[in-house]
Amino acid sequence: MAAQETVDHKYVYDFSEGNKDLKDLLGGKGANLAEMTNLGLPVPPGFTITTEACQAYLVTGREPDGLAGQIEEHLEALERAMGKRLGDPQDPLLVSVRSGAKFSMPGMMETVLNVGLNDESVVGLSAQAGQNDRFAWDSYRRLIQMFGKTVCEVPGEEFEHALDDAKSAKGTHNDLDLDADDLRGLVDAYKKIFLKHTGREFPQQPREQLDLAIRAVFESWNAERAVLYRRQERIPADLGTAVNVVSMVFGNLGPDSGTGVAFTRDPASGAQGIYGDYLANAQGEDVVAGIRNTVPLNELERLDKKSYDELLGYMARLEEHYRDLCDIEFTIERGKLWMLQTRVGKRTAAAAFVIAGQLVDEGLIDLDEALHRVNGAQLAQLMFPRFQLDHEFQPVAKGIGASPGAASGKVVFTSARAVELAAEGESVILVRRETNPDDLNGMIAAKGILTSRGGKTSHAAVVARGMGKTCVSGADEIEVNVPAKRFTVAGQTVNEGDVVSIDGTTGKVYLGEVPVMPSEVVQYFEGSLDPEHIDNALVRAVHRIMTHADGKRRLAVRTNADTGADAARARRFGAEGIGLCRTEHMFLGDRRELVERLILARGADEREAALAALLPLQRADFVEIFREMDGLPVTVRLIDPPLHEFLPPLEQLAVNVAVAQERGEDVAKEEALLAAVRRMHEENPMLGLRGVRLGLVIPGLFAMQVRAIVEAAVECAQRGGDPKPEIMVPLVGAVQELETVRTEAEKIIEEVTREKAVEVLIGTMIEVPRAALTAGQIAEAAEFFSFGTNDLTQMGWGFSRDDVEGAFFWRYLELGIFGISPFESIDRDGVGRLVRIAAEEGRAARPGLKLGICGEHGGDPDSVHFFHEVGLDYVSCSPFRVPVARLEAGRAVVESGGSDSR
Ligand code: PEP
Ligand code: MG
Repeated sequence: MAAQETVDHKYVYDFSEGNKDLKDLLGGKGANLAEMTNLGLPVPPGFTITTEACQAYLVTGREPDGLAGQIEEHLEALERAMGKRLGDPQDPLLVSVRSGAKFSMPGMMETVLNVGLNDESVVGLSAQAGQNDRFAWDSYRRLIQMFGKTVCEVPGEEFEHALDDAKSAKGTHNDLDLDADDLRGLVDAYKKIFLKHTGREFPQQPREQLDLAIRAVFESWNAERAVLYRRQERIPADLGTAVNVVSMVFGNLGPDSGTGVAFTRDPASGAQGIYGDYLANAQGEDVVAGIRNTVPLNELERLDKKSYDELLGYMARLEEHYRDLCDIEFTIERGKLWMLQTRVGKRTAAAAFVIAGQLVDEGLIDLDEALHRVNGAQLAQLMFPRFQLDHEFQPVAKGIGASPGAASGKVVFTSARAVELAAEGESVILVRRETNPDDLNGMIAAKGILTSRGGKTSHAAVVARGMGKTCVSGADEIEVNVPAKRFTVAGQTVNEGDVVSIDGTTGKVYLGEVPVMPSEVVQYFEGSLDPEHIDNALVRAVHRIMTHADGKRRLAVRTNADTGADAARARRFGAEGIGLCRTEHMFLGDRRELVERLILARGADEREAALAALLPLQRADFVEIFREMDGLPVTVRLIDPPLHEFLPPLEQLAVNVAVAQERGEDVAKEEALLAAVRRMHEENPMLGLRGVRLGLVIPGLFAMQVRAIVEAAVECAQRGGDPKPEIMVPLVGAVQELETVRTEAEKIIEEVTREKAVEVLIGTMIEVPRAALTAGQIAEAAEFFSFGTNDLTQMGWGFSRDDVEGAFFWRYLELGIFGISPFESIDRDGVGRLVRIAAEEGRAARPGLKLGICGEHGGDPDSVHFFHEVGLDYVSCSPFRVPVARLEAGRAVVESGGSDSR
């Protein structure tokens, strides 16, 4: 930047010198003002001071050399164009000084209007406006107010109070009732306030006003609210803002003047037509301040047909030029229309799809561009039911939006009670401090899950996302008291049976029932809305864009599903197989007892008996899943969690034993369980006896699962089905582990498929960093790799996935160590590098090695793009995220400039 700070470096651009592609340099507003100027639209003349000038100012604390001279030149040119001079006592030129960064930061930075007014030129302005003293003094008091507040940090309320005092002295609530004398008096009062706070008189030199206002806009880039906004929106902190100096036009010169905003289509629904608001006899900030009510834009046709028609013509022109929805600010000064701003307008998720579809129909863009203009986050939003929050609902707590959607229901505190009430047809919200695998039935029965602890990858969050169920986790303002069946929040007590509403997108929690609307987009994916035969612009647009994405993408999309029902739903959503069937839930519920028998087995016979009892149950599970996914690959992962997770908690067992002993009951079994829990206790269970280690330590466990999988596949094949089983070994870190499991599995496969041939692949998860780094060796024993990016992130960063998000990620986000949790979106540089190394070295060792990913990142839009770049074959994600992954996989092709078609 220092190098740019030379006298002849260009820091100021006339509107006629820029264009819409110079947003980096001129900011969004400046670039678009230039574009409109060049299109011949009526833009008040002006110039833009570049973001580079701002950057230089922010680094050095002073205006760069040469800037002052360039401002002078452009100001003179502006004065010539307008035939007026800044500060001229007879006929003053007035300018506005407006911020305008590359990315829109609405209301975050500063604007000063009416620069150039002083005690003398206020008289000239009145004459200019047809001896309109009221207007002139009102303009002057607005300048002192804005300048004082923005440039000199005078507390805004002081001006507001003075204005209120003037109105009450007049016995009115309406600004318009203040006459010229009142406003002249107000100017005096404002000047006193200015003097009191700054120790100096309000500056009378227009050029000084201008320079100070420009400097204030530069500095507003680092105002606290702007810094916060940037952090939230992930806008880089070093961009700086441009400053636009524009000749003032006035919408407050009488009934033939006014100001308004317009959209070329409805930004809420995307519907075609003219949308906007108009306010006669007013300036822009009056609209924002809501001082008077606006009228719908089409009223302007009645008020001023000529300007209305002209505006419509410009709007059509802009839309065609930008090939997108534009929003516009305009002012009419005594019957003359001026265009003050345009930009490609923000829109809702629904409007994004609808508009993209319409623009294709109109031939303005092609389907690739339409695909580029929507995104997975928007699609995800459209897939969840929403609250109708038009009512006055205030949240009582805010946690982490862990699984999106909107749910209302009666509060319950236990899984059993959730099941009971749901069976009676009640909607329930399961409230826990945190959930564990035992809560599964309650989670299935509940409409939503609310926890006071845990982050986005806590048990509650992961399981809820998998089910497409609304979940708010880590709402730590909530004190949950399970035994007392109540929670307290914000001084209120909520008992079992009271109704609450939770929003899994925003993380907000409400007391009472907020009405909910179902999603049409889900109905479409479910097959209950036929896009060809319904009159629903959104569904048709989604269908069209999804079809295009499917045609474009190279990545296949599978799902993570553990049950036939999930598999069936995911298939309707477009899943092309199962990338991860976790088998742990197959050991829960009634089967827990068999797991206890397995753990407590004294000798091989008892152990084998327990496994033999589990075998048919698991086989039946797999038959159901293979049937639902017939013809598509199903990756079944052998059991992963530590076995003690299937036993009751230590404290509970200790209490049971003590109570039973007290009563003189037979406690042999409880004592044995207690001893087992104590024996199996681990300080770091996530790094303990789990995954492949279980298979190597507990004889027969993996063998039973392999047999169940292969027997189920054979059974399906014998009935004419086409099962495609893939057996996946978790937590492998060394090829020897995999080889041992493989040797045993191959024997079973060989034996079982003798009756009926079925091809069974054997592969591994890559979720331990060592596995990624020795992928070349591991590929020798694996027909496929599936990246377990949850554990790979956990072990790559050394972050406990159940604890850290709630515990300290806020600080890491605040410090910018990362912009988003690495559990949510893949850390490309670190964990992503492990994925890249493993993919490359795995494929080098075994060409044709199938590569997929089944961690939570498989459904994250940005991560999907990364996995496309790395060249994986598929991503696998929860059923609800399958459409998002399909869309993003298509976008990844379009955005990498490819025309890959499958
Ligand atoms: C993973 O670690 O990314 C994974 C998919 O396995 P789990 O979440 O079951 O540990
Ligand atoms: Mg894992």
